[in-house]
Amino acid sequence: MATAALSGVQSMLTLPTDAIRQLQWRFADRFDLQMLVQSARGVARTTVAQLVAAGERNTHEWTPLKEEMLEAFDRAGLSAVFMEPEQGGFIAGPKNLALALAAFELAWVDGGAATASLAGFLALAPIRERGTAEQAQNYMSLAAPSQPQSESGQNRKPLRGAFCLTEPIPYVGVDTGMLSGKVRIARWDEGEEPWLEVDKRGRFITNIATANFVTAAVNSDDPRIKGTCMVILEETDEGTFERGTPTKKLVHQLSSTGDPAFNMKVPASRIIGGYTVREGVIVPNFSHSEVIEAVFRRTRVTVGLMTAAKLLSAVEPVIRYQRSRFRGAEGARPGSIRYEQGIQQREDALHRLVDVWSCGEAAASLGFAAARLFDELDPLEKQKAAALAELRISGGRAEAKALRASEPRAMEMLALPKSHALRAELAADPVVQFILKDAEANVLCPATKLWNTGHGANMMREAVSLMGGYGITEDCPGFLASKWMDAQLEATYEGPEAVQRRQLTVTMTSEIFLALFRAWTAEMRHIASLRPGTGACTLASAMQMWLWTLNHLQKSTDPEGNKLYHGQRQGVTFAMADALCWLLASRCQILDVLELEARGAADTALTELLPGTLQFFSDLCHVQAAKAAGEVSRVCSELVFGYKRHPSWNDTGCGECFSSVEIEEFEETMPGITAMVMDVLKADGSHPEKAGPCATCARESDFLNLQSKLSRCLSGSRLAKDRAAETVSTVMIPEALDYPQ
Ligand SMILES: Cc1cc2nc3c(=O)[nH]c(=O)nc-3n(C[C@H](O)[C@H](O)[C@H](O)COP(=O)(O)OP(=O)(O)OC[C@H]3O[C@@H](n4cnc5c(N)ncnc54)[C@H](O)[C@@H]3O)c2cc1C
Repeated sequence: MATAALSGVQSMLTLPTDAIRQLQWRFADRFDLQMLVQSARGVARTTVAQLVAAGERNTHEWTPLKEEMLEAFDRAGLSAVFMEPEQGGFIAGPKNLALALAAFELAWVDGGAATASLAGFLALAPIRERGTAEQAQNYMSLAAPSQPQSESGQNRKPLRGAFCLTEPIPYVGVDTGMLSGKVRIARWDEGEEPWLEVDKRGRFITNIATANFVTAAVNSDDPRIKGTCMVILEETDEGTFERGTPTKKLVHQLSSTGDPAFNMKVPASRIIGGYTVREGVIVPNFSHSEVIEAVFRRTRVTVGLMTAAKLLSAVEPVIRYQRSRFRGAEGARPGSIRYEQGIQQREDALHRLVDVWSCGEAAASLGFAAARLFDELDPLEKQKAAALAELRISGGRAEAKALRASEPRAMEMLALPKSHALRAELAADPVVQFILKDAEANVLCPATKLWNTGHGANMMREAVSLMGGYGITEDCPGFLASKWMDAQLEATYEGPEAVQRRQLTVTMTSEIFLALFRAWTAEMRHIASLRPGTGACTLASAMQMWLWTLNHLQKSTDPEGNKLYHGQRQGVTFAMADALCWLLASRCQILDVLELEARGAADTALTELLPGTLQFFSDLCHVQAAKAAGEVSRVCSELVFGYKRHPSWNDTGCGECFSSVEIEEFEETMPGITAMVMDVLKADGSHPEKAGPCATCARESDFLNLQSKLSRCLSGSRLAKDRAAETVSTVMIPEALDYPQ
């Protein structure tokens, strides 16, 4: 391990190279992914950048140039990333990291371009996740671009799709259960496959201008069809396939969006995942919510990475702007501080850029960790299903019951020391592995979507502000103002922040996740002892505080006796979800730096770059951990103290308990006050007359101890920020941005 690298103060020489990123984000051994990154970058920094520079974002219409962009994606292989090799794809096995990397590269230049690429996969995702084998093979292979001059001489245009869930107000939005789209039996002849009539209107549907098919969520309007489902509609089906007028978006204009209307007749085989007929009723194998749950838990990670890319892409243009700001002015001659450093002479400008950069790093680390986790989860899901099938357990409810029954084994595994033989045995069990990874994924996915896009949008505003007036013009290098607005859409589509917070409030309190979280806290403490410069100590203390507060809130009530931690009490649960995301992002960022340190040492090509890069990244981790700790401390103290009545007359206790010393003090200044207050409390049915702190006050004093420990753990974080700022002022950047403006 390059131990010296983190202890000595060395400056990072250049912006992080591809080799550094490949190690950090763990695809240094994946040549296929490295090639994909190059392909996506090629299209992004040529075709896409030219389109933006040419003002194609200024129209809502779908234009020939935008259409050409999709064709460029096809040629670069980007439209086939989602497919299996036998379906026309080129990546075997799980593809979450691949999709994340491709989206990251496209969003580095333009979020709308990334969305146009991803929305096609979103349309296919219901079919891939829950479709029948025939449906998957058919639509996935038709959507894969044919190879130019393929053996058959065919140059088929790939099928393009749109995902249609959201409906015109007052129906589906955040609440996905309020479906107005309808499905009925159109015709059902004896012994024949039934035909369905589908009536669906969509709102804000991406890719609708080019879609040849849509996957639409509908509800039964016929006693012969049970519940809800998703169906595939093709533009050539009998009936109306109306694309609707383009949405007047302020963002992502390189993708098409509109409010379509469909009224079509399709065979029942278009129900995604198939159906069975029971007593004359069509029973879809999957309800629409089962389908979308499987889809969004993967696709939302990619969206989170789009915002991370924006933040990191802002660094280089801002540095260039800051340094060159005064060049050409009288008195700003080459070699002078004013010429060389420009605005970077000013500490605040550097510190704010450090904040943007550290947030971008943390967001990327969190998002890529989530994408890799889903790559691990995908095969485990199949192994788990096979293991349960051997026990003759299959189907939603039976599987869920079996998994619940296996949870104690997963908990047992986590509790055993690493060297214990039983731990290895349990760890080898695919069901146990699945339970652990699933619990983690159920938190990391919404956390990535929520924090990267929500907090990321706020930090994009910071990036824009660093460019002054230029920042809010179309000419701003790096298209920062567009990226700022685009980030807001990323925080909205595929479920706004409220949806992610709602999911987190459930998944982050699962016993398995909390056991993992405890293990991660211990891990951070250990890292803190080896690498204090990463801010791991601060982070571990903040994690401890979050866990303490959750536990406290779950047992506490407000003055009216209502539970504090309760699904309906979003003021409590959502705030805790937000706080958790800060911790998770910071943890992933630290782990990525340790990975870079461990693996980078073996790469001789990095000998010169690595020490300075590690020092800088470590400082960014420290900065970010301190911010996370501050945020967690603020949220937790608001929740611990904010639901108590204000102790107007006693500013040390809860207002309901006080020590004999305090009583004496009060009596001295206001004779008779003690008796008066006691009477009020007794009438209120509240407090005892005993001296000394009550249980609540004792718990609060535990919290205050944690908070004071946390404050002390911040030691060194501002020194790290100063060091990082110094690097930002000296790091080499290319002469010009590597894409057209
Ligand atoms: C450009 C664009 C592209 C899109 N592409 C697609 C697409 O391809 N396919 C598709 O199906 N949809 C698409 N959408 C729709 C998008 O997913 C929805 O807009 C989004 O899910 C939110 O729904 P809504 O706008 O109806 O918000 P609403 O449901 O009206 O919610 C508005 C706000 O109210 C609050 N809120 C609502 N419910 C709750 C709650 N339970 N708890 C707390 N707060 C709450 C939140 O602050 C929320 O952000 C797209 C949207 C846009 C703008």
